[in-house]
Amino acid sequence: MKRIFIALCFSILSLACTRNAITGRNQLNLVAESDLQAMALVQYKSFLANNPVVSSSNNNAEMVRRVGQRIAASVKQYYKNKRVSNNLDNYQWEFNLVDNKDVNAWCMPGGKVVVYTGLLAVTQNETALAIVLGHEITHAVLGHGSERMSREMAAQGLGALGGIALGGSAQAVNIFNSVYGLGAQYGALLPNSRKQELEADHYGLIFAASSGYNPQMAIDFWTRMANLGNGQKPPAFMSSHPSDEERIQKIKEVMPEALRYYKTK
Ligand SMILES: [Zn+2]
Repeated sequence: MKRIFIALCFSILSLACTRNAITGRNQLNLVAESDLQAMALVQYKSFLANNPVVSSSNNNAEMVRRVGQRIAASVKQYYKNKRVSNNLDNYQWEFNLVDNKDVNAWCMPGGKVVVYTGLLAVTQNETALAIVLGHEITHAVLGHGSERMSREMAAQGLGALGGIALGGSAQAVNIFNSVYGLGAQYGALLPNSRKQELEADHYGLIFAASSGYNPQMAIDFWTRMANLGNGQKPPAFMSSHPSDEERIQKIKEVMPEALRYYKTK
């Protein structure tokens, strides 16, 4: 599979690969960011209209918004320091808590975030919530959703789609929903790759740390998440890659870097 994507990147689709401004990694990118954000907005609104959104005055909903806004501000600052603020053009952050016992959270392109109440039982505290939101927001700002969608489009032979074709394509909407685990009738969730997960852990930790949250709490949190998988259905947003051991090992490796952001705060 991997070899096919590399071949795609270096052949007829060379124009459809973009180098990520933060990670330097080449990513297959068949969907324009503006098209993706437009699609995300429609799906986000539809999701909120069809799910029980917790009142914004509720303490937990307020915490989700507070943590999310702090992480978003750190992301913005990080991108500014790297002189790539244009990568966040048109991001309009929104944070909502929905009453749902699933252990889940996601961030769509454009900054549309949802946390499920089931997740709060596992995070248990604001710092761990910051670790998760840092992770999910990183998937969005690093273009992982677009990458997953592009890979699936390539696999289904869809090729690059223009805005009009994309917006009007039920197939594209189905793929988008699979990326975010919405609309289960369309099939299985398309998981993040191991590489995407490790990138989300790495930069998510930096964003949480520069928001004033102790990144060392990530070890306890991911251990709690790993234990949750024992005998239970693993949370939808935890892919089977990397393994729990590898994830925690890699988090330990980037901890000194994250701590520098925490200490200068
Ligand atoms: Zn992830």
